[in-house]
Amino acid sequence: MFNHADNPFGEGKIYLDYCATTPVDPRVVDAMMPYFTKAFGNASSIHSFGRETKIPLEESRETLARAIGAETGEVCFTSGGTEADNHALIGVAFDARQKTGRDHLIISAIEHHAVLHCAYYLQQLGFHVTILPVDEFGKVNPETLRSAITPKTFLISIMHANNEIGTVQEIETLSDVAHEHGILFHSDCVQSAGKLPLNMKQLKVDLLSISAHKFYGPKGIGALFIRRGTEIGSLVHGGAQEKGRRAGTENIALAVGCAKAFRLAVEEMEIESRRLAELRSVMRGLLSERFDGILFNGHPTESLPNIVNISFDSRKKEIDGEALLMNMDLHGVAVTSGSACTSGSLEPSHVLRAIGRDEKTTKASIRFSMGK
Ligand code: PLP
Repeated sequence: MFNHADNPFGEGKIYLDYCATTPVDPRVVDAMMPYFTKAFGNASSIHSFGRETKIPLEESRETLARAIGAETGEVCFTSGGTEADNHALIGVAFDARQKTGRDHLIISAIEHHAVLHCAYYLQQLGFHVTILPVDEFGKVNPETLRSAITPKTFLISIMHANNEIGTVQEIETLSDVAHEHGILFHSDCVQSAGKLPLNMKQLKVDLLSISAHKFYGPKGIGALFIRRGTEIGSLVHGGAQEKGRRAGTENIALAVGCAKAFRLAVEEMEIESRRLAELRSVMRGLLSERFDGILFNGHPTESLPNIVNISFDSRKKEIDGEALLMNMDLHGVAVTSGSACTSGSLEPSHVLRAIGRDEKTTKASIRFSMGK
């Protein structure tokens, strides 16, 4: 059983927000440490100080590539999931419009804001965007995707696992639909990385985003996997780093931390996922036993092992979700609500609205996300 004396978060504190972020694994911290003070050279320098950091940078790239079934040259380090998603959408959009005149993008209704708001930005620049509906479990239907495609479609972006409800999409089938029409496919794998097996070839994606702080790595680093031959422009212009795809001096400590964390997550995935799935089932059981009128959000089986997302059904009882969350925080329990803070106001989650929850029920929702 849990020993309170060993609680790393402090007495009485319970952290159930691992989908928001994770603490850095001490083994990852150890791996990063030499690159802050000892080996500090600029990886682009040709002298020995530069070589000293170029080698671990390229080794980190290789570790990530190998873990995901990609080639070393297909890994582009970014500042995290948001930048990787922006790079995929904007990089392909500008290139496609300029070279082929295609200007139509397809995304799903439950994408993270890093994709959704990026699509809105492209819309402001004259691109056309189709937002695909999902079913009550958050699944995208391949036939709905097929019917949304036009001769102008340049990219389809559908996330692997949803960050709020955990639903996992059939990416292989969806990317097949894209490729049948000669369209590139991007998947935001920020939440599935380290929790589900990820293989670029099996998923058949052209672009794939990950972020280290979701798998016990440091914040401020992630990667965009770009399949060789994919036509994509860069967001950041300057030096020739990252094969000219992302200018700026590389952060070696973070790259090393990202690779180490991912390798550990992959090695420990089977045991950890089983443990989390057991906890999820205990938690679902206890919640249904203790509370009347709760609804479970997300797919019952095809979902991440660490998320339990519930709503209190407003037709049975109205509950103030924000007050509930604040009370849980007062009791030391950290969770996320079914609302997101957008420009200072609380907006009901677009994901829960997309799976058909009404506004009041959406606001009375909680995501528990478990971890180590
Ligand atoms: N995509 C998904 C699915 C996420 O859950 C997140 C973070 O919550 C992001 C993208 C953004 O990643 P980052 O925080 O590294 O910018």
